[in-house]
Amino acid sequence: MFVLPHQVEFAINKLHSAGYEAFIVGGCVRDILRGDAPSDYDITTSAEPKQTKVVFKGERIIETGLKHGTVTLLKEDTPLEITTYRIDGDYTDNRRPDSVKFTKTLTEDLARRDFTINAMAYSPKTGVVDAFGGENDLKNGIIRSVGDADRRFNEDALRIMRALRFSSVLGFIIESETKKSILKNKNLLKNISAERIAIELVKLLCGKNAKQIILEYFEVLEVILPEIIGMKGLDQKNRWHIYDVLTHTAVAVENSPENPVFRLTALLHDCGKPDTFFIDDKGVGHFHGHPEVSFKKAKNALKRLKFDNATTEKVLTLIKYHDMPIEPTKSAVKKALNLLTPELFFCLLKVKRADNLAQNLELTKTCLSTIDTLEKIAKEIIQNGECFCLKDLAVNGNDLISAGIPVGKEIGEILNTLLNAVINEEVENEKNALLSYLAKR
Ligand code: ATP
Ligand code: MG
Repeated sequence: MFVLPHQVEFAINKLHSAGYEAFIVGGCVRDILRGDAPSDYDITTSAEPKQTKVVFKGERIIETGLKHGTVTLLKEDTPLEITTYRIDGDYTDNRRPDSVKFTKTLTEDLARRDFTINAMAYSPKTGVVDAFGGENDLKNGIIRSVGDADRRFNEDALRIMRALRFSSVLGFIIESETKKSILKNKNLLKNISAERIAIELVKLLCGKNAKQIILEYFEVLEVILPEIIGMKGLDQKNRWHIYDVLTHTAVAVENSPENPVFRLTALLHDCGKPDTFFIDDKGVGHFHGHPEVSFKKAKNALKRLKFDNATTEKVLTLIKYHDMPIEPTKSAVKKALNLLTPELFFCLLKVKRADNLAQNLELTKTCLSTIDTLEKIAKEIIQNGECFCLKDLAVNGNDLISAGIPVGKEIGEILNTLLNAVINEEVENEKNALLSYLAKR
């Protein structure tokens, strides 16, 4: 089961030969025991950083965090973190230890780790070291704090998000004491940096169990995303919907591709609904203008969580247009392609599909088949190289100037008029045809 990459074997053997203990530890042991390929390998050792540096003299070494005991070995460009057995000192800010102390005992290092499934070590010499029942919890699909949950979440509140993330990604249940403690200590998340929260949030959303976690731990998500407050239990009072806004959102997340942009879009697309809800005199619920409100709230949320510009822009555009109707005609599709770019147009179709799948399927069946049609039409337009944007128009600004139109902002307006005429099939996308169309007007 444990076939280690040769760089990892090399590092462990080197440390052993020098008389130190060395194990792979944490996530990689968990992943191997589950039959998954680890994304990276961490090594824990009894050697102190300066001793580790001596052991790997002649190799490429980066002093990543000597104070915290970590040196990185670069072997054939693969970075390998080697960290000294460590006991964390007191935590006074719910984030990080005030100090760390090196120890000679592996179990003490394992005890500082967050969950039992992440607190196992392995070496070819010793086999698996499992001091907290991690292997059993792994087998039974359980996330359980190492030691007293309250104390552990108070030390580092990010562990609350990590518990939700592992539960979502692995499809594991959070053990009841750990769960109770998460709900009790959720507000400590306010002490955690936006960057660390965003990383865990995205992994959580992309997990296979995201719907369940969103529903079960919504009150935790409300702490990091106050923009979603008000969705739970909001009955939409509309025949298009069979779920309240929160359940609709969770089901939309589940039906979205497992990728940060889509999952964030699904989570936030309707966060403007609580603000725009009104019931007409027939008792029917409406949310006029909710995409615009969702857009504004999502913009705040994504900015606060410090998401990168590319992700933010895409998510916001998709939220803004998630409800925009597009007729299944060539000209309507071309207008949408021009508005959005082909990349985002196809993304929008995925968003719309997920949104429709989370509504009353009796009614959205036809919407779903329209989405299929839109996709077919768009592919055809692109395949045929049909014109839908200024770049593809058979005349450009210079052509207009040569035809005697004065330089100025009118040029842009005229080009757009011509593009519209081409899209509406009033004129062929051909230079002379366009110029004579213009002359006639
Ligand atoms: P991933 O698959 O995302 O890498 P991971 O469990 O390896 O998951 P890392 O952040 O790489 O997560 O951390 C490596 C190990 O360090 C964890 O398995 C765990 O043992 C320990 N660890 C990480 N973060 C914490 C934390 N906040 N509190 C306690 N232990 C932690
Ligand atoms: Mg890891």
